[in-house]
Amino acid sequence: MLTIAVHLKGAKALPDLRIVNMGFNLELIKKYDHAGPRYTSYPTANLFSDKFDRSTYVHNARASNEHLVPGQISLYFHIPFCDTLCFYCACNKIVTKNRSRAVEYLDYLKKEIRLQGELFDSDREVVQLHFGGGTPTFLSNEQIADLLEYTSYHFYLKQDSRREFSIEIDPRGVDVARLAGLRELGFNRISLGVQDFDPKVQRAVHRIQSPEETLNLIKAARQMGFVSTNVDLIYGLPLQSESTFRETVERVLESEPERLSIFNYAHLPQMFFPQQRIREADLPRPEEKLAILNSTVSILGKAGYKYIGMDHFAKPDDGLALAQKNGTLNRNFQGYSTYADCDLIALGVSAISKVDLCYSQNHKKLEDYYADLDHDRLPIARGTEMSQDDLTRRAVIEKLICYYTVDLNTVCRSAGVDAKEYFGYEWEVLENLQYDGLVKLDHRNHRVDVTPSGRFLLRTICMTFDHYLRRPGAQGTYSKVI
Ligand code: SF4
Repeated sequence: MLTIAVHLKGAKALPDLRIVNMGFNLELIKKYDHAGPRYTSYPTANLFSDKFDRSTYVHNARASNEHLVPGQISLYFHIPFCDTLCFYCACNKIVTKNRSRAVEYLDYLKKEIRLQGELFDSDREVVQLHFGGGTPTFLSNEQIADLLEYTSYHFYLKQDSRREFSIEIDPRGVDVARLAGLRELGFNRISLGVQDFDPKVQRAVHRIQSPEETLNLIKAARQMGFVSTNVDLIYGLPLQSESTFRETVERVLESEPERLSIFNYAHLPQMFFPQQRIREADLPRPEEKLAILNSTVSILGKAGYKYIGMDHFAKPDDGLALAQKNGTLNRNFQGYSTYADCDLIALGVSAISKVDLCYSQNHKKLEDYYADLDHDRLPIARGTEMSQDDLTRRAVIEKLICYYTVDLNTVCRSAGVDAKEYFGYEWEVLENLQYDGLVKLDHRNHRVDVTPSGRFLLRTICMTFDHYLRRPGAQGTYSKVI
């Protein structure tokens, strides 16, 4: 939901440069503070073309049914509406108190579900389903139930407890009774936006949320049988300091969530209009932001959380940590995922799908999304079909992001190319990163291992393999690494 960035240029000597137990190294982070993608896809979404034809999507969808063992399916529903505006928000959302807008939207979403359902074999199991936004709980439980029922006529929803059905919750509009209703509908995972519990910070970003009610929801979710709760926090918000954010983190940990996502606020008011309501003078200075991140990483390490990668932390027995251990971790538009190799069918305005060899994105404007569906057309606006080079580089980047290691010989062998020749340029760049202690290289097997210090700079390491970043000015479109 959020972009991340930190501006270190001009940062003064930092008060605390120790390497804490997770390998967090402030000096290296300072040195490698480059703008770069978060690699929820490769090629990244900003490279999708509006020349992408929906017939290419249809071709890929049909081809995905023909594999010897067709992949499982992951469904994503984008619900764009929000009751109120959080000033830091960079998401594609529609702020309204008019609930009837959801009624119209759901009618169109159903049309899209039907059109998509016609493309996929009916025996392909939906093992993952996720409601994101915006605010999915803008919908009532009855509306969500109706949507799920409609979906089950067009897709085969897995019934047993191994399915992952998750929903993003806005604790300001969800009480324990509502949460119990969601559990009854079959959701077994939730993600809660918290951001910060400090009342001053909450006022400055226009998101007032009671810590007690939020923590009660997390505890209640566990008692109801939700197997995993994720909490989103943001550092770098106005009026935050190391000590206030530490209090928020410690407070959140009282409820022992299974996962935490710690995002870094990117202040880009020219790009994201609501951010103009945030006073620049209130933003923490770069050295304060790093102190916040440093102490957060330290607290989470001491509390026993495992650093999965990028912005994500999980308890060692959580599905994400286990998937990382078992080799089934995957990276997609929702961050990390425990099912590898699913076709991801994303429904709703602006949603991004990954099906067989292509990525595609729906229209970002509601009227365009509705117009296509009025003509019984898939509302696809842009996308890309991956080349063999994209697939090879994506395989490398995914291995690094999910497992901190990649055997280039193995990846290249499946692509029919020679690793030494194909990644000759990249190997030279990696040698510099090795000099700085970010990676360890095995020359004989062309193996790259990310060191503990390199783990917080995964984006930088992955960028080495990103062919598209070599174009002039390419990095200007991304946020900073940390
Ligand atoms: S609730 Fe989420 S999507 Fe809506 S404005 Fe706030 S941060 Fe943005």
